[in-house]
This record gives sequence, C-alpha cells and structure tokens, in this order.
Amino acid sequence: MDDRLTVGNVTAEPGTIQYGRWEALAHPTGHMEFFPVILARGAAPGPCLWLTAGIHGNEQAGPLALYRLISEDLVRRLKGTIVAMPALNPAGLRTMQRAPYHANADPNRFWPEMKGTPAADPDRDPPSSLEQAYQRLYDEIVASADYFIDFHNAWIGSLSFALRDRILYQAGDEADQRRARELADRLDQMVNAYGHTVVNEYPAETYIRENLHRTASGSVLQKSRIPAFTAELGTGLVPDPAIIQAACAGTRNVMRWAGMLDDENEAIEDTRVIRPGYPVRRMRTPRVPEACIVHHLVDAGMRVGKGDVVAEMRDVWGRPVGNGVIRSSHEGIVLGRTHGVYFYPGQPILTMAVRDDGTLIAPYPDTYGKL
Ligand SMILES: [Zn+2]
Repeated sequence: MDDRLTVGNVTAEPGTIQYGRWEALAHPTGHMEFFPVILARGAAPGPCLWLTAGIHGNEQAGPLALYRLISEDLVRRLKGTIVAMPALNPAGLRTMQRAPYHANADPNRFWPEMKGTPAADPDRDPPSSLEQAYQRLYDEIVASADYFIDFHNAWIGSLSFALRDRILYQAGDEADQRRARELADRLDQMVNAYGHTVVNEYPAETYIRENLHRTASGSVLQKSRIPAFTAELGTGLVPDPAIIQAACAGTRNVMRWAGMLDDENEAIEDTRVIRPGYPVRRMRTPRVPEACIVHHLVDAGMRVGKGDVVAEMRDVWGRPVGNGVIRSSHEGIVLGRTHGVYFYPGQPILTMAVRDDGTLIAPYPDTYGKL
C-alpha cells in the first residue's frame, strides 16, 4: 500500500532516503513555513511508521534522535517505510520556546478530536494557521500510518519514558469498548517493545480537561485508533546523548516488533529503565503547603515510599518553614523534579509515577459532551 507514498513534495522510492518539504502555513511577510520530511523506504514492503518531533520548541532531543536513527544502513535492512518529520514547530525551535510566537498556545493541543468542531462563532477565535496545518497533517498521518511515535522532552534531568494514553470509548457501546481493548493490547506490546520505562497518562477526566486527547499522539490514537505514544527523552535543551542512543534502539525495537526489521532486539543501555512491578501513571505530587524554597532530596529514577521525606522547605533566610520537610504522598518512582526552587502553595515539586489502579481503556467522561 505504501509503494507510492507521497508526503509534501516527496515520494518514497524503494531502497532510498528522500528529503522534502511539507507546506505548512503562510507568514504575513510572504514567507512560507514548511515542515521538513524524511521518507525512508526499504527495498521490501512492510508497515508504515510515522515519527515526529520538535512540536515543542524547547524540546530538542527528538530531532537529533530522528537524524541518528535514519541511515543508509537502516534502509538496507528495512521492510516498509518510515515517514519522519523532525520540526513540527520551526518558530519555537528557533526561539527555544514551547509555543511559536504566531500561535500563542500549546501547539501539542491543536490536533483533531472525536467531537466535531462547534459551529462558527464570531466571538471565538478561529483555528490558527498552525492548528489548520496540524489538521491537514493529521489527515496525512492517518491515511498511511500503521504506527506513530511523537518525540518530546519532559524536564531537566528527567527519566526517559514512554507516555501511554488510555484508550477512550463511548460509554454503553460494547463494540467500541471491545475495539478499544484490542487497541490497548497492541499499544501495550508497542510500548513494551520500545523498552524504556512505561508510564500511563492521567485518568480520563484529567486527560480530557487538559486537552491531552488533542496531542499529536493522543489524537491519532483516540480519533483514528492507530497505535501511538509519546516518547519523553529527558532534558530538552541540553540533550543527553545516551538517551538519544537509547531512543534510537527503542524505536528499532518497535520496528522489529512491527516486522520492519528482522535482526535481534537491542538492550536499552546507559539510561535508567525502571520496572516498578506494578502499573504506574504520572502524577504531579507532592505539593507544597505554603510558600517556601524547596531543597529537593530525591532525583529522577529514585523509588520513594509513601511518607518518605523528599524535600526540605525553607524561608528566604534559609530557616525551616513549618516542620521543615515535604513527604511523599504516594509510593512510586520520581520521573523528574519541577524546575526551580521557589514555590507557591499548591505547586507540585515533583512528577512521579505512582500506582495506577485504573484500566488501560476508559469511557469518554460525561463532561466530554456529545460525540
Ligand atoms: Zn513536549
């Protein structure tokens, strides 16, 4: 099916890597913004894997991972096609900002969702040029993709992990629920093939409230039911070479699982992989009870028990605030520290992976409204 796959101005040719441009949007200064496209097609037919990166401009490890992954040597062994787009937010990458200056919102919340768009309302801003570009790109991804990975970075010093969304289904629709479960099983195999730490996303209510069903991978997964996940690659603006290598190895392992490579699985080395022994989901916790300066005592990858001291709280003179310590609210793994040390009440000082008592499928919450 992918024999003549064309993306932007480039068409896949067996046994080659092709480079091209996907026209994204027009700037008022007359410049066209394009997203670079890399099409790697093996000599033999096989599945189509889409890989994207650079949608958050301050997350710059993903582009490097794609450049390192795609090589002539890989193409010689490849069955099927890789479509790689390493710069989904060129303006943000240039300015090292999460969002581009021309669309002042998180670009990874602009992707299509199950629910249709509301009727035109003159008091609502219409979709930005970038949002429209992602809507068109979504159509291209789901037309050809068998699998999809979107590469990101979390926080300075954070763990490398695969962030897995729960599959949402329509409450009361048994066939939809069964399809969701089948997809959840395939996604489970895919993230385990990647081989890094696996962390589930928030429960469904929070997921919808935070528009995580409108991320690139969330959108492709929920709306088109194509196996997709977000890969978080640690520090964003000073990428860790070991994590980049491990992300390439993990992606090749996904390709082996998908039947795109025939050789042996690679070990994920030189970066921490945590297997807690129970399913985990991300949680922003613990939160500070009052304004203070936080001295973290734990770091990414550490196991923490409920009630363990994870930080000290001080005032601006360095004296203890309250009882002077912050304890973990949950048993789990530290995924990363919140940046900075000055905190207001209620702000979380860590993101942790805590026990996930939920299932890997969930009905759309009632609050989601009519589909
Ligand atoms: Zn990101």
